[in-house]
Amino acid sequence: MSQTMSMPPIETLLRIPKVIGHRGAASRAPENTLAGFRKAAELGYRWVECDVRLSQEDHPVVFHDDILARTTDGRGSVGATSVRDLRSYDAGSYFNPSYRGERIPTLEETLTLLQSLRLGCDLEMKAERGRERALADVVARTIERLWSQDPISLLVTSFSPLAIEVFAGAAPSIPRGYLTGALPLGWQARAARLKAAAVVCDHTSLGFANVRSVTDAGYPLLAYTVNDVSRAQALFARGTEGVISDGPDAILTGLSG
Ligand code: MG
Repeated sequence: MSQTMSMPPIETLLRIPKVIGHRGAASRAPENTLAGFRKAAELGYRWVECDVRLSQEDHPVVFHDDILARTTDGRGSVGATSVRDLRSYDAGSYFNPSYRGERIPTLEETLTLLQSLRLGCDLEMKAERGRERALADVVARTIERLWSQDPISLLVTSFSPLAIEVFAGAAPSIPRGYLTGALPLGWQARAARLKAAAVVCDHTSLGFANVRSVTDAGYPLLAYTVNDVSRAQALFARGTEGVISDGPDAILTGLSG
């Protein structure tokens, strides 16, 4: 018997909660900020989703968009801006003036805080073309250096096939999710090649036949971004493992019963 056959598959070790806070708790606090992760913990979330991308000097920072304008008082692209400048911008006021002075967090700060809050993490790598390897390598090194919490509480994904494949090679013991908008034909081969621990899909593309094809293949299914309780309940009833939500009260209260 081979060694791999004697080990339990990764997917049986992951304990994914029913609701994961999207970018922290994006409808309740500034997205992808330390304040947002604290808010998610206060609201009772057990996991958060967040996004990681590279600064100009290839330092990993937690931020969603390519450009700064929507959620900060900076301008230009994140990937062409130094960490020092990124850290000078206000990433809280766009949400509410009470969050003025909230900063763009580094990946190090984020992983450290999540562990102190005992929050699990669905970490999405946002890879610019041509910088996929640099991003995946530094994310792998940072996780291996900092994430001492039980590894079943961490799932790494990317829409970039190259970034996630490089990551899988660089940190093979960290669970990966196969992230896709809609399930493409032949998705099973892609998920298998990645040794995916979960499949993560846009819920608007998920008919019940798709839900079933994922669950029948043995993968836990995560659906994003679900902010409607009845939709979440319908997805769960068909076997969806978890939903990624911006965090309206209705989702948490509606799911607690
Ligand atoms: Mg994301």
